[in-house]
Amino acid sequence: MTTTFLLVVFDGLRPDMVTLANTPNLLRFAAMGTRFTRARSVFPSETRVCTATVTTGCQPRRHGLIANRFAHPADPGRLIDTGDKSALQAMQRDLGQDLLDVPTLGDILAAAGRDFVVLSSGSTGQAHVLNPHAEANGQLTLSAHGPQASSPLGAALFAELAPPPTAPVARGVWTAELFRTRFLPNPPAATVLWLCEPDTSAHYQGLGAPAQLEALRAMDAAFGRILDDWQAGPQREHLQIMVASDHGHTTITGHADVAAALADLPAFAGCTLASGSSGSLWVPKGDRAQIAALASWLTRQDWVGNVFADDGPPSVLPRAAVQADHPRAGQIVFTLRATAAPAPSGLPGSAIYDGGLKLGAGTHGGLSATELHTVLMLAGSQVVPDARAEWPAGLADIAPTALHLLGIAGPVMDGRVLGEALRDAAVPAMAPASESWEAAEDGYSQRLARTRLGGQVYLEYGERG
Ligand SMILES: [Zn+2]
Repeated sequence: MTTTFLLVVFDGLRPDMVTLANTPNLLRFAAMGTRFTRARSVFPSETRVCTATVTTGCQPRRHGLIANRFAHPADPGRLIDTGDKSALQAMQRDLGQDLLDVPTLGDILAAAGRDFVVLSSGSTGQAHVLNPHAEANGQLTLSAHGPQASSPLGAALFAELAPPPTAPVARGVWTAELFRTRFLPNPPAATVLWLCEPDTSAHYQGLGAPAQLEALRAMDAAFGRILDDWQAGPQREHLQIMVASDHGHTTITGHADVAAALADLPAFAGCTLASGSSGSLWVPKGDRAQIAALASWLTRQDWVGNVFADDGPPSVLPRAAVQADHPRAGQIVFTLRATAAPAPSGLPGSAIYDGGLKLGAGTHGGLSATELHTVLMLAGSQVVPDARAEWPAGLADIAPTALHLLGIAGPVMDGRVLGEALRDAAVPAMAPASESWEAAEDGYSQRLARTRLGGQVYLEYGERG
């Protein structure tokens, strides 16, 4: 039997929520293998941006899915909602372009003659981004939202199943059980099992609220049943399992209405805005004077955190600092102000947010440590057991590591093989180096902390001074 690979994503799980009370099965799993103690998300720390990084092994600047909502490249006044599969497909048709600029795991596995399955209880767009060419590749993507959101093979499988529940927690459990009962006995070369919790409950029930912790415990229990079957059967020798979260969360402790604040500003004329925990501004024809005026105005707002623009005023950092310089990206990218200070719940991390979520709700998309710090664990017969890896690691490292385990040579990716966790990999002699990017002018200052490890860059946190 050949090696197979499973990635289980707990959407939005903060590492400090991995506790004996919340996630006994995740801790049981961690003890079987290697836990990465410095795992990081990407910027913006939004689900579809993270999803594309997972499946391509590349940073947003290379894969091109640069925000959860971004201006349509051919119709910049209109925002594309990447959570909606049909909106993504319509944009692809409009542009005659692929959604992502680089190959995905599905493409690479198809070229190698190996199978790839996606099972997701996330949004229809999220499931699609995990394997945009599922149909052409003859691979199965099943979205728990239904056959219309699945690839033809996924839609066909629905005909054999009881309909999935509609509540997010129950839908997540249903999706995990589908993997355990249908796929685990004879797994494809690689599977991604993406669970929408504990993210959805953090947004709508409150970060750290009893209902969110209950959702997390339900996901952990579903994962525990997969773990039991894996350990009890022949797959124990062949299947390597990775567990990850795509981003963390921070608590909303204040609101801003960025569109209203910008409305009367002459430099905003003709621009397109998307904002939440972070935001982007698309400026008509990339007018440099307009970009400079808007970037400078942003640094004078109380609710702003970091501001990134190319050729901006001295207080602004270049977009390349957060690897956000892609043709689809806004010419100005910013975060709303966030601090490490505890929220009223006692959980570290407080942030200003623009949108419909309430005070006390969880949010993400920005650069604070609680949004960027993620869960990453790997276990299986090829993995060093009972270990903690202290090197920085990230979402872009998942695909290269999966391909290495499967013995498939893929294209050059931004990520690296997480050799420090593998029994057979030669670990190159590298030392992580801390980097600090700072900019200040007229009473405003900002800082971005990153870590470099060889050719890889990991984002630690961004903050306003
Ligand atoms: Zn997410």
